[in-house]
Amino acid sequence: MIPLLKIDQEKCTACYACVRACPVNAIRVQPEQPKPSIMPERCIGCGNCHAACSDNAIEIRDSKSELKKLLKSNQQIAAIVDPSIAGEFPDITDYRKFVSMLRKLGFGIIQEVAFGVELVANQYKDLIQNSKGKYYIFSNCPVSVMYIEKYKPGLIKNLAPIMPPSISTARVVRKKHGKDVKLAYISPLIASKEEAVRLESEEKIDVVLTFLELRELFKEYKLDEKNLEYSEFDDPLGYRGSLFPLSNGILEAADIDERVMSSKVITVESDPIFEAIEEFEENITHIKSHFNIFYKEFIMGRGTSPGGKKFLRRSQLIKYVSKRKSSFNATKHEEAIQEYSDINLKRTFLNDDQRLPAPPEELVQKILDELDQSEGRERGCGACGYPSCYDFSVAIAQDLAVPEMCTSYAARSKKDHIQSLKISNEKLAQTQEALKESEQIAQGEKQAAREASEITRTMLQKLPSGVVILDSTLKILQANQSFIELLGEDAVEINEVIPGLTGADLKKLLPYNFYNLFSYVLANNENITNRDVNYNERQFSLSVFVIRKNKIVGAVIRDLSSPEVQKEEIVKRLTDVVDKNLSLVQQIGFVLGEGASETERMLNAIIESYKPKH
Ligand code: SF4
Ligand code: SF4
Repeated sequence: MIPLLKIDQEKCTACYACVRACPVNAIRVQPEQPKPSIMPERCIGCGNCHAACSDNAIEIRDSKSELKKLLKSNQQIAAIVDPSIAGEFPDITDYRKFVSMLRKLGFGIIQEVAFGVELVANQYKDLIQNSKGKYYIFSNCPVSVMYIEKYKPGLIKNLAPIMPPSISTARVVRKKHGKDVKLAYISPLIASKEEAVRLESEEKIDVVLTFLELRELFKEYKLDEKNLEYSEFDDPLGYRGSLFPLSNGILEAADIDERVMSSKVITVESDPIFEAIEEFEENITHIKSHFNIFYKEFIMGRGTSPGGKKFLRRSQLIKYVSKRKSSFNATKHEEAIQEYSDINLKRTFLNDDQRLPAPPEELVQKILDELDQSEGRERGCGACGYPSCYDFSVAIAQDLAVPEMCTSYAARSKKDHIQSLKISNEKLAQTQEALKESEQIAQGEKQAAREASEITRTMLQKLPSGVVILDSTLKILQANQSFIELLGEDAVEINEVIPGLTGADLKKLLPYNFYNLFSYVLANNENITNRDVNYNERQFSLSVFVIRKNKIVGAVIRDLSSPEVQKEEIVKRLTDVVDKNLSLVQQIGFVLGEGASETERMLNAIIESYKPKH
């Protein structure tokens, strides 16, 4: 079954006006789902939430398509009409035009509820007269009945066991027209839709349409009184029962005493009914009265057009009842009452207890502390929809509400959230600044490294000796011009295609005796200094040194056949000879005297002659 009311989550703006309007906490807000939802099992169909929602986010179960389907079928269909039409349709000049419009819509039988009210009113009169000290709560208002069934089940035994006027009218129609006739009740209350389901019996009402839905159908089918003749309601007709939409109309219909001093009935309507029911429960033995209660006078029901003026509608209803008087036939009415007096109007009720167990006091206290609202135990601001902070905390503990519904809690969390956002924002800004600085440093270092590399490369190129740097596979990482020239013409040509011979394999450029020395240094990490090597019939002096262990080696190669290197080398080598033999020469000097000094002088003269002239 489609729920009576549903919140459209798309349209809902989570303002919680509906939560505040609901008298029985049937609208729940859950964590991680800020938009509320209606719990059908807790709802009593008062319609307050629908009236409170300015975003039109609450939908009422639509019955128009169900009725259209029924009207299209070949079955006999009766409309049971609440007398509140007088207040709802003042734009229709005569109720008989209204009846015509209904016939035009497709209803074969149009029965006003007034006669059914009178049957029910008589039952109430009997009940009051024979109550034998027991006091009853009238059961004509479906909202009040559902409230007692769900939240005051202890009072079910005090609900008057009499069918509501809509059902008594349904039984009249079925008695007169047969059991197969289909019934549509046109009601001023949305709760009537639920009541029809709860009272399902063999005389069940097939569809309940609100006055608002009926208006929409009139519009859709372009039904206009101008084009229609008068038509009267079907028999049996009622008279004073048409006052039923007023809260004391049922008393008026049965001529039940309403005088303050002598009446045994108290009539209560609107929100005070909850207090009245509470008092009935606590003090009925002292109050000693029956309670005629209506959550809303039918004339102002939630199924009527919003914004209606209560006293204007009341006066329209009274005018309507006066008009009905002209066609009222008291004898015929009395006969009809007799004819239908055997209709069974007994009713039972559901025990549909929806009371929630009270949560542990410590939990409620903890929630109050979290809300920082210990002060508001007794009275709150009401913004959350609960009468006090304590009640709100109980609802949170019962999983009906969330702390964010408290405006001061929400403001505080928002403030905390903004503060934490501010802190993380500052941290982010600091990190960004630090990143910027390190990026600048890295850029600087990169630039310095690039410059250093450029300088080294230039210096290498300027060196007269050949210089080469190799990786662990003897591939050239860097080589200077002198080294390339030293390798010969082929290498010079390759250099034009691959500058610096980068990536070239040394094994393909030099013979084994040469590159083997590089392999040795790479494998053993031992430098080789001034090793003579022959290549291309020339003699070279080779020094190989470790740059990165087992990974990179470098070498300086000098061509001993070049005149500068030759002189330099001879000087160096003679110096070595002089140094190495100095002690020997000195020893010989001791032995040979003057002769030794002469030898030294002679060798020094040779060295001097080879030293470069400046
Ligand atoms: S009244 Fe309720 S359903 Fe309507 S927008 Fe506000 S929270 Fe949503
Ligand atoms: S119809 Fe009434 S009881 Fe049901 S959810 Fe709306 S306000 Fe609450």
